[in-house]
Amino acid sequence: MQIKTTQRFHLTPVRMARIKNSGDNRCWLGYRERGTLLHCWWDCKLVQPLWKSVWQFLRKLDIVQMLDPAIPLLGMYPKDIPNGNKDTCSTVFIAALFIIARSWKEPRCPSTEEWIQKMWCIYTMEYYSALKNNEFMKFLGRWMYLEAIILNEVTQSQKKSLDMHSLISGY
Ligand SMILES: [Zn+2]
Repeated sequence: MQIKTTQRFHLTPVRMARIKNSGDNRCWLGYRERGTLLHCWWDCKLVQPLWKSVWQFLRKLDIVQMLDPAIPLLGMYPKDIPNGNKDTCSTVFIAALFIIARSWKEPRCPSTEEWIQKMWCIYTMEYYSALKNNEFMKFLGRWMYLEAIILNEVTQSQKKSLDMHSLISGY
């Protein structure tokens, strides 16, 4: 579900080559791989470190046993995953996809810090919208564990500079 919308705005080298008829369909980064959809969003050497961090993060939550590209890219979860866990995962994935999209065509690795910051952004927005809509319990269920792990991942200086503190406990 996520990739369908991002696809429209982030054309892969393979599609660009077809549109421009240029014949050059390699990855932006100058390596020789074909820049397919799966390559650019998942396989590329530059995005793999981010997915590795995502995977380590999800292992702490103990939700998915195996990170298959179909989960973040197509929203296809293994059947035994409860809906609440899917929600949590999709927040983590949306933040990662957003960061990858942002550095599209740039020869750099999307960083773990950027991804964590993006998750924190979503967290803050959802907090205020939950307060406004009287859905705090729902917010709590969704973010309690995520929040603890995120705050655990960032350094003290990051916390300070981004003013990151728990909105749930107040610390
Ligand atoms: Zn590549």
